[in-house]
Amino acid sequence: MNRSVACSGRHVLDIAEQLCRGRGVRLTPQRRRVLEILCDSSKPMGAYDILERMQGQVASAKPPTVYRALEFLLGQGLAHRIESLNAYVSCIHPEHPHASQFLICRECGEVRELESRRVDQTLESALKACGFQADSQMVEVTGRCLRCSGGRSV
Ligand SMILES: [Zn+2]
Ligand SMILES: [Zn+2]
Repeated sequence: MNRSVACSGRHVLDIAEQLCRGRGVRLTPQRRRVLEILCDSSKPMGAYDILERMQGQVASAKPPTVYRALEFLLGQGLAHRIESLNAYVSCIHPEHPHASQFLICRECGEVRELESRRVDQTLESALKACGFQADSQMVEVTGRCLRCSGGRSV
């Protein structure tokens, strides 16, 4: 799935508005703008890339503005942090809590979000078997996407 397709029609932003309203939290214009920037990008964006993009419109935008907005978006499950890249993506299905796996293409830089319950459950039971209490878990796989490896889409 293409991220820009998932984000098209302001679908993600509409869902974000609804979710926030339902939870009684505010998707302020700045938070919304950061989410919008993430949605518009086909690649994960670092905080400073986001800031640069914002400063075009909001001259007063400062690093804390972006970090606070990102913290909010992560907390609400509207965005994810790609640890290995120290960058952020918007979530493609924020309606429900989920553990994601990320496929990172090292050629084109595109990141695809997967939500495999099986991977999640397998990891969960493996952790349980070790008696390990996980705070967070990231599954990030680097490689080449279908397009970059010359494969054909089904
Ligand atoms: Zn997600
Ligand atoms: Zn690629």
